[in-house]
Amino acid sequence: MTTITRFAPSPTGRLHVGNIRTALHNWMLARTNGGRFLLRIDDTDAARSKEEYVEAIRADLAWLGMEPDGEERQSERMALYDAAFEALKDAGRVYPAYETAQELELKRKIQLGRGLPPIYDRGALKMSDAERAAKEAEGVRPHWRFKLDHDEPITWDDGVRGAQKFDPATLSDPVIRRADGSWLYMLPSAVDDIDMGITDVLRGEDHVSNTAVQIQMFTALFAAQHKAQHLPRFAHTALLVGKEGKLSKRLGSLGCDAFREKDIAPQAIIALLARLGTSQPVEPIADPQVLLDSFDLSTFGRAPAKFDDAELQRINTALVHQTEFADVADRLPEGIDEAGWHAIRPNLTTISEAAEWWRLVTGPITPPEFSEEDRAYLAQAAKALAWGDDPWGALTATLKEGTGRKGKALFLPLRQALTGMNHGPDMGELLPLIGEVEACRRLQLAAAS
Ligand code: GLU
Repeated sequence: MTTITRFAPSPTGRLHVGNIRTALHNWMLARTNGGRFLLRIDDTDAARSKEEYVEAIRADLAWLGMEPDGEERQSERMALYDAAFEALKDAGRVYPAYETAQELELKRKIQLGRGLPPIYDRGALKMSDAERAAKEAEGVRPHWRFKLDHDEPITWDDGVRGAQKFDPATLSDPVIRRADGSWLYMLPSAVDDIDMGITDVLRGEDHVSNTAVQIQMFTALFAAQHKAQHLPRFAHTALLVGKEGKLSKRLGSLGCDAFREKDIAPQAIIALLARLGTSQPVEPIADPQVLLDSFDLSTFGRAPAKFDDAELQRINTALVHQTEFADVADRLPEGIDEAGWHAIRPNLTTISEAAEWWRLVTGPITPPEFSEEDRAYLAQAAKALAWGDDPWGALTATLKEGTGRKGKALFLPLRQALTGMNHGPDMGELLPLIGEVEACRRLQLAAAS
């Protein structure tokens, strides 16, 4: 059976790094198996869903290189949910409930006060027809709950967590539909997973208890709608936390815009998130195929995955250092050629820093103040400058012999006079780029300063 995965964000905000990780896992699982990766926009909440977020989700996925093979929107699938609801109602698996939010809150408080778990007491199921009719006559419109089957434990073999077992009696019958007819997350998701032929539901462990409920929904829907019983496989990844090990507010708002602003390449984000929380080493791997080839749910751990900005930055830097000229040429400042890229690349942590380093070649530069002795030395250097295959090698060899200087005393004043900096790209590569005339001018200026 072809693997079909889905990423199902609610368009109520921008994607954050946790969502991106879930999207990536689903993309990888589909891609490693020659399957399909679908985007499902969970926009049943009309008030909070915004079109601009739908567009931003698509744009972020495209930027990250995870384009979906198809897209569905829950707001366009209401007829399916209505049909499923009616079928479940006929099968006695959904029931109307009339409690107000305050009444439910009070029940919860009483249970908690008695040291009991706050599970819905199924008060609505115990109502007589007359009581229900009385509520309706008062104009109270019901919300609707899915009736869990308490007969057997709910079990599944989780792709990350292993064998899972839930006693349904420890769960509340979930509210699936509000009094105004609008949908909560639970049922539409199960309906869609069936209808879209999802083979693997891969999401964060905050959904584990939803899975227990949804497994019963799947089974109830298969029976009520006479469908073949094909439960998807489920896997729940440990949550993403900050490097201090806690759920972090900041991570909840850290997304592609912030990465773009810091000029972090999408490849760096992918390389980090693909292996974070697994037993495989996080490495600066630019080729997604290499990550795909090693993707394996059984390497995912149960402990929270720690996201560290410094680690992302390190991976980005390492990837920049591997980047070939042809792959960045269109993003580099005018004038940088292959030799220029090669010279400055080892000094970059992001591609956009290229402009700053390239100024050492194009100028203007601001050299420091030199001692009298160094000025004399630089005057000698200006005279000694000779152009050949390796002007830097030749210049420093001549000066070493002529002045007896070595090490820092030999090299640093030259670097400072030629670039205005104490450190930077390899001078052997840089000097030919600066060129004979300009190099000579810079040495003479420094000598005369
Ligand atoms: N819209 C849900 C969420 O963002 C989808 C969860 C799921 O993957 O089923 O949490």
